[in-house]
Amino acid sequence: MVINMDDLPKCSKCGSEYTYEANGWYICPDCAHEWLKDAASEDEEKEEELIVKDAHGNLLKDGDNVTVIKDIKVKGASSAIKVGVKIKDIHLVKEVNGHNLDVKVKGFGSLLLKSELVKKSN
Ligand SMILES: [Zn+2]
Repeated sequence: MVINMDDLPKCSKCGSEYTYEANGWYICPDCAHEWLKDAASEDEEKEEELIVKDAHGNLLKDGDNVTVIKDIKVKGASSAIKVGVKIKDIHLVKEVNGHNLDVKVKGFGSLLLKSELVKKSN
């Protein structure tokens, strides 16, 4: 990562270019928005909200419970996760090769799944 000390970021609220730095904070003189210097570079990429849908197009969110609708082969495991297996407390993650759910499955441990292979349940 290249850090250019002279390159102050624009205000994330109003887009002003006149931000300045004080005590580790960035401050916008135009709208009085202040934000932590360390967090500034990460904020830009985290704005995108994760949109994850199950096999039926229902939106999933962190903490939802789902049911597996297709046998899922797991790398390194001797058996597949079977249809009908319930998975509790899913976590949405940024998609990697189509895998966008971080889950724990009994007997398999933590793994990444594709949301299209599950449906929302209670
Ligand atoms: Zn501002």
